[in-house]
Amino acid sequence: MGNARIEEKGYYITDVCIGCGTCQSSCPQRCITEGEPFTIQQNHCLHCGSCYENCPVQAIERRG
Ligand code: SF4
Repeated sequence: MGNARIEEKGYYITDVCIGCGTCQSSCPQRCITEGEPFTIQQNHCLHCGSCYENCPVQAIERRG
């Protein structure tokens, strides 16, 4: 019962991430946290796609 499921729409950084930090500096919201892989703070993301367009290894996935 219930329809509770995690909303996945948005941009996600996958394991392909090499930790270069390019997405972090291209994000207008500064909502990407360093790590392995880097992660997007979904509650602050504007879905602008800047990280997605700038990642040198296409580690960012667009869902939804
Ligand atoms: Fe930042 Fe835009 Fe990427 Fe969201 S889609 S994490 S706002 S660069």
